[in-house]
Parts: sequence; C-alpha cells; structure tokens
Amino acid sequence: MASPKFQALRGTRDILTPDSERHRALVDVFAEQCRLAGYGHIMSPIFEDLGVFLRVGESTDVVTKEMYDFEDKDGRRIALRPELTASVVRAFVQHNPTNLPWKAWYEGPQFRHEKPQAGRYRQFSQVGIEVLGSNDPQVDVEVIALAWRFYQELGMQEVSLLLNSLGDDACRPAYFEALETYFRDRSGELSEASQETLDKNPLRVLDSKRSEDQSIIAEAPLMVDHLTAETAEHFAAVRSGLEALAISYVISPRLVRGLDYYTRTTFEFASTALENAQNAVGGGGRYDGLAESLGGKPTPGIGFALGVDRILLACDAEGVFPGPVTTPDVFIVDLTGGQQATVLADELRNAGIAADRGFDGRSLKAQMKVADRSSAALALIIGEDELASGAVTVRDMRGDSGQTQVPRTDLIGELTTRLGR
Ligand code: AMP
Repeated sequence: MASPKFQALRGTRDILTPDSERHRALVDVFAEQCRLAGYGHIMSPIFEDLGVFLRVGESTDVVTKEMYDFEDKDGRRIALRPELTASVVRAFVQHNPTNLPWKAWYEGPQFRHEKPQAGRYRQFSQVGIEVLGSNDPQVDVEVIALAWRFYQELGMQEVSLLLNSLGDDACRPAYFEALETYFRDRSGELSEASQETLDKNPLRVLDSKRSEDQSIIAEAPLMVDHLTAETAEHFAAVRSGLEALAISYVISPRLVRGLDYYTRTTFEFASTALENAQNAVGGGGRYDGLAESLGGKPTPGIGFALGVDRILLACDAEGVFPGPVTTPDVFIVDLTGGQQATVLADELRNAGIAADRGFDGRSLKAQMKVADRSSAALALIIGEDELASGAVTVRDMRGDSGQTQVPRTDLIGELTTRLGR
C-alpha cells in the first residue's frame, strides 16, 4: 500500500490500544500514589505565555533551542509547554492558595523540538508533583519517596536514585566564582557550545554531554564542597530521611539537571535496564526562587517530573507492568438484522458487562471470526429461532463447555455467574 498522504509528524506518535490502555493504567497507578499522599490534581493549559518559560531557563537548551513557540492570531508570543513545573508555579502564583504547603499532581503531554530517537520524542508524556510553601527537608523526602514507591508499584527493580545539592543563593556566589575561574582557565579545551554556555551560566557547563568537555568537567569544583552550614544540614536531613525509608541513593555531585531554577536538593532516577543515553526515567528538585521569579511572594518549592513513555520502555526491558487486559466480556452475534444486538448490548453495558457486537449483517461464520478475535469469554448468538423463543445462545469461547440456550429474562443473572462477578 502506498504510504498515506498525512502521517504523524516526526517525533510524535499515535499510541493505539492496548499501549494506550497501558499508558492510562500507569497514570492511574501514579494518581493513586498521589491520592494516598494528599496531593490534589491540577490541570493547567498546554500552552502559556512564552514569558513563563523564558523566566525559568534562559540559559538552557530546553528553553532556548527546543521550544515550540509561535505568535498566535492576536500577536501574542505563545509556547507549547516543554515541562510543567513553570506552569504549575504560574498557577500557584495566580491563585495564591493559603493552605500551605500546597501539594499538586499532574499528568499530560510536553513538547520539545529535540532530535527524535528511541525514548526521545517531540511530544512526550510526564506525570509529576509539585509542593509549594515549605522548606522542610521532610518534604523533599516525601517527594522522592512518592516517585520511588510509584516505580515499585509498577514492579520496576532496576531504578537508581542519583542525589545532589545545588546549594542556594547563600552558597552559590563563592561556588560560581570557583567554577567560573576553573572553566575560564581551561576554556580553550572546552567545546564551542560550552564556551558560549560559560558566558551565560557556568553551572550549565557541568550538564554538557559533549565528549570533549568530559575530562574538564570531571575535575571541576563541586557544589557539595561549597555548601553553607545551613544547606549542608538540610541536605543531611534529606539523606537521613531517605535512609529511614530504606531508599538507597547515590550521591552524584555533578548532577545539575536541565533547567535553571533548581536549588538545594536535586535528583534524577535512572533505569539501569535502559541504554545509557536515554536512561533517565524522571528527575526533579527544589526551586526555591521560582515563585518569586514568576511574580509571586518568595515561596520555596520542590517537585519532580517522570517520563511516562520512557518508564514504559523500562518496564518492557524489565518485563514488568504488562498493562490491563481490555477484552470484552461478551461478543454478540446477531443473525436477525442487527437491532437485537443493539438492544441487548445496551442492556448488558447498563448492567456493567462489557459487550461488543458484530455489524453489517454479516454471516454467522464472519461474525464468529470477529468474536474470536475480540477474545471475549462468551459469544451471545441471536438467530431467528432464539428470537422466536425469547432466548439467547451462550457459547463458551475459551473452555470447551459448549453452548446453551438461556431465556432472555435470565440472561444477566446467568452471565453474572459465568463471568464470576
Ligand atoms: P526533565 O525534566 O527534562 O529531566 O524530564 C523529566 C523526564 O521526562 C526525563 O527523565 C525523561 O524520562 C522524560 N523526558 C524528557 N524529555 C523527553 C523526551 N524528549 N522524550 C521522552 N521523554 C522525555
């Protein structure tokens, strides 16, 4: 067949059943963890004023190079969200809730104009949480623990937690100076892109994945060696909380994350079941200055985002979380024209029995083939005889218990028993 004129754009995908069902089931598992921990659901717009994102990452690739931004018909600069933290914090500032800490969870698509490859798409899905209004290191522990428990609920075993502290405004000047001096001394050896990044934000150079930068980055001064006593104490409390929950972590002093707003606790989850380049299945951290930079009162915050598409790849690699079975309970084969199936399907669905049916007045053989393909447990056959006697033939599609005629009036009771409801 010739390829169709229109196809999903590069880096985007149609997710069809059963994969789509699995995707939804994953979000349900996440939603349940959020409910258990007292997080409310937030649904914010998919597009925002471009400024919302410019505020949060002017020296990052996500914001400067990968954003889907455009002018709308009113001449406003708009961006499809590349991530949700900025949107959620914008919403927090706008609605100014008084019940702090304010705990929200979300799910949905994000958009980044990246080079598509396995596990890296231009439209991808995330689930995540944000907590605003508390400095307490126990919040950091709760946030990390929620992600950890979620991975466990999916059955994932091969997830490692990388942990760092990026310090705060009190620790940063001295560290930035040390870092900048170090990189400037060796700037000739850095890649051209990193030399440019250095002018904007020396911290971001640490995030370079370019091979020529790696040996220089490896010897760069570390933030964890420049923390003030207060921040060091905060970080120690986070570590101790994780230990109390038996959540193992690896201190990763060069972990900086892809956006500018992070302060203090930062973390990433990597799946060791996935290829190295695309093995991050989630990440997050504190962003104590973000609410203020979006025009709100100074409010500490912390959160994470986990990549749904990539988590499902990791689940495949581990052979876990197969997703729900979505076959109908019964398949109705109507040999009397089709209206009987319409009425019966309606009645069964109303009684909570999943019923699919044949269309187009096809032959018994053709409809039975579709019934078979549907993997329904039972076929319900209505022919002229059944219609005349007010019955339905119930055929077992899985075992070999044959078929029986059941009076129409007893049908729901009979099906409920046979389906083990
Ligand atoms: P980030 O905030 O950029 O670290 O993103 C959080 C998580 O989203 C990552 O750990 C990935 O699992 C996922 N993610 C980020 N970008 C993409 C992408 N382009 N395609 C698929 N998943 C992504």
